[in-house]
Amino acid sequence: LQVSLETLSSTMVELGFDQETTDHNHVLDGETAQLIADDLGFDVYTNETQGVDLFLAPKPSADEKSKLPLRPPIVTIMGHVDHGKTTLLDYIRKSSVAEKEHGGITQHIGAFSVKAPKSGKQITFLDTPGHAAFLKMRERGATVTDIVILVVAGDDSVMPQTKEAIKHVHAAGVELVVAINKCDKESVTEETIQKVYSDLGANEVYVEDYGGDIACVQVSGKSGLGVDTLEETLVAISEVLDLRSSPTAKVEGIVLESQVKKGVGATATVLVHNGTLKPGQVICAGTVFCKVKAMKDSSNKVIKEAGPGTPVEVTGWKELPASGDQVLQAESEQQAKQVAENRQKRAQLMQQMDDIKIINEKRKQQKIDQEAEEKRLERAKLGLPPIEEDEPEAKCQLAHFIVRGDVHGSVEAVSESIADIGNDEVHVNILSRSVGPPTANDVEIARTANASLLLFNVKPTRDVILKARQAGVPIIEQTIIYRVIEHVTEHVTSLLPKII
Ligand code: GDP
Repeated sequence: LQVSLETLSSTMVELGFDQETTDHNHVLDGETAQLIADDLGFDVYTNETQGVDLFLAPKPSADEKSKLPLRPPIVTIMGHVDHGKTTLLDYIRKSSVAEKEHGGITQHIGAFSVKAPKSGKQITFLDTPGHAAFLKMRERGATVTDIVILVVAGDDSVMPQTKEAIKHVHAAGVELVVAINKCDKESVTEETIQKVYSDLGANEVYVEDYGGDIACVQVSGKSGLGVDTLEETLVAISEVLDLRSSPTAKVEGIVLESQVKKGVGATATVLVHNGTLKPGQVICAGTVFCKVKAMKDSSNKVIKEAGPGTPVEVTGWKELPASGDQVLQAESEQQAKQVAENRQKRAQLMQQMDDIKIINEKRKQQKIDQEAEEKRLERAKLGLPPIEEDEPEAKCQLAHFIVRGDVHGSVEAVSESIADIGNDEVHVNILSRSVGPPTANDVEIARTANASLLLFNVKPTRDVILKARQAGVPIIEQTIIYRVIEHVTEHVTSLLPKII
């Protein structure tokens, strides 16, 4: 069976395609080609791209869920910069019962579990950089957090990032506890605390002492004042939330962070949601997989099992998974390999589809330009003056950045926090983002694209510094997200056309 180009074009027009997309230069995507071929009477065989994959188990019914054991709540701390998030987290981590039992040195794995002092119930804290990480996870459809602690310094009250955090919490519909911090300071008085209450009320957060129902605890991350009460409040809220998971189900979880560690290879912190992760099991995350070699908790202790609500550092990955990727258990290494390959193939296909779109756009533009040129020549031949063209619209200028960071979580957090900076005239554009120190190639790309290197918690080598200096490529080194935002905003503002 054969069809002429005319038949193909006319069939496409009949099917509703516009004339432009029916010429021989237009590249069709698989689905459309299938539709047209089918209409022309061809038997269609498609390359199987769906293939083997893994999916989340169906949610249990209310009745089934009520029979499952409780799991620990997952808590994130948010708040304005310098209001004491890090200090409070450090205090909780160091004073935790679990920590004392293990006697280990805490390591940063993006999350840690503690036992509340009175009830002995477990609480899991995420300690990846606040807002951006929370947003990133949400964007991927995963509300990892059950409860948010909103830290507000008692002597500074509600600030811009406090308001931002409130917005995210309301949008995600997660539980909120307010921790009024720095209550050891003399500058925190009954009066300043009342101001915090009313400022929060102005942002639709009504705490218990202000006629509302949101729990509010006065704490000090420095002296430990009120931290016990805060932890028990979290336990009480989690009991109301009735958080339950099955320890015997297939393992499901999420990658919080990943990095290559010297002598260990690719490692990732996995927060288990469902099931129990054990060495020897095979898990997939995005396009990579892992036969679990060993697991360590945040006190650096080797553990053999990680049940729901537990964060663990997992080794055995073939490659680094990305933070925010869903973790699902596979039957075997062979199945995991197939799933990973299949997902890679699909990602490539998506890339190809995007490329096709770009090619078609380019061809369309070429055609328009060619027609305009022909018209111009024709008018010139007839001795007519060229048609006045409208002023071309002012284009948005782009401030390019290459982002490099120490771990996946930070790279994504940094990228997320700067991606929206700008306006119609100048806007941030992230050319690439990756884990690890910048390379000479990054400098070369930055030079060509007129971009800046934005480094978060990574140091450039001497060679890279020299090359960047020679090439006139700015290097921005930062360790605090808030400062990154400030720096990038300043840079973008400096590019705005000067009003004389
Ligand atoms: P973050 O930016 O929210 O993580 O804030 P940090 O934890 O880095 O704290 C900012 C500053 O406030 C540091 O100088 C801390 O020592 C100080 N700080 C934090 N919590 C307290 C507290 O409870 N009491 C006092 N007096 N100072 C605190």
